[in-house]
Amino acid sequence: MRPDRPGSRPGHDTRPQGPKRAVAGGGGHIARKRFGQHFLSDLGVIDEIVRAIAPKPGQSLVEIGPGLAALTNPVVERSERLTVIELDRDLAARLRKRSELQVIESDVLKVDFGAIARDAGQKLRVIGNLPYNISSPILFHLLPWADHVVDQHFMLQKEVVDRMVASPGNKDYGRLSVMLQWRYAMENVVHVPPEAFDPPPKVDSAVVRMTPLAEVPAVDPQVLEKMVAVAFSQRRKLLRHTLGHWIEEHGIDTDFDLQRRAEEVPVSDYLALAALKR
Ligand code: SAH
Repeated sequence: MRPDRPGSRPGHDTRPQGPKRAVAGGGGHIARKRFGQHFLSDLGVIDEIVRAIAPKPGQSLVEIGPGLAALTNPVVERSERLTVIELDRDLAARLRKRSELQVIESDVLKVDFGAIARDAGQKLRVIGNLPYNISSPILFHLLPWADHVVDQHFMLQKEVVDRMVASPGNKDYGRLSVMLQWRYAMENVVHVPPEAFDPPPKVDSAVVRMTPLAEVPAVDPQVLEKMVAVAFSQRRKLLRHTLGHWIEEHGIDTDFDLQRRAEEVPVSDYLALAALKR
C-alpha cells in the first residue's frame, strides 16, 4: 500500500497545478534568442503587472518589445490606444493588422521619445518586458526624455532591479543606483519567476516602476557619470584614494567627506559635488 502524504485524500490529486497559461497565440513563432525573446505566459503574473500599470483611456502608453502581445492585449483593452515599438519584422507585421495599435518597427535605441510625446501632445507612460541583453542601454536611452514621461514600468532581471533601487550601505548600491536615482523615484513592484515565461530565462525577473522626480537637480549627467565611475572604481577603498584625486584634478574646493566608501555616500552628496565642477 502506498503511504498517504499528510493531508491528501485518497483519489485526490494534490500535485500543485501549473500556472494558467496564455492561449498559445504564437501561431508558430519561434522565439529568437538574439532579440532576447522570452514571452510572458503566466496569466496571473500578466494580470498583476497590468494592475500595477493601471492603464486608463486617454493616456499615451508606449510599449517596448510587445512580442506576441501578452501585455499588449490586456493593456490596450484598458487604454484603447497604444504605441508599440518592435524590432522583429515578423512580430511587427502581425501587430500592424490591429487598428488600435500604432506600430513603430525599429530598434528602440533609435527611437526619439521626445517626438512621440510631442505628437501625442502629452507625457508618455512607457512599459515593456525588455530584452534583457540591452536593458541598461534602454534605460539610459530614455533618461534624457524623463521630462516627457509620466512613468515607466519595466520587466528586467531581478538582479538589475535590485541595483536600481538599492540604498546607500546596501551591497547592490553602485553606479546604476546613483545614475538612475538622481532622476527617478523607483520601486520594485512585482517579482516574477522564470516559469512565468516561455521559454523561461535563466534568471529571476522583477517589474520596476520608475517615476521621474518633479524637481530636476541642476547637474550635467556626463560629469556625474564620470565622477561616479571614479568613485566606484574601487568599492572597498576609502574615497580619498579615488574621488580625492578627481577633486584635486579639477581644483574643486569642497569639504566633501572622503573618509567614506563610495557605497556609503547618498545620491544627494554626489549631486552636490558634481555641481561644483566647472
Ligand atoms: N512583451 C512580450 C515580449 C518580451 S521579449 C512579452 O512579455 O511576452 C522582448 C521583446 O523585445 C521581443 O518581442 C523582441 O523582439 C523585442 N526586442 C528585442 N530587441 C529589441 C530592440 N532593440 N528594439 C525593440 N524591440 C526589441
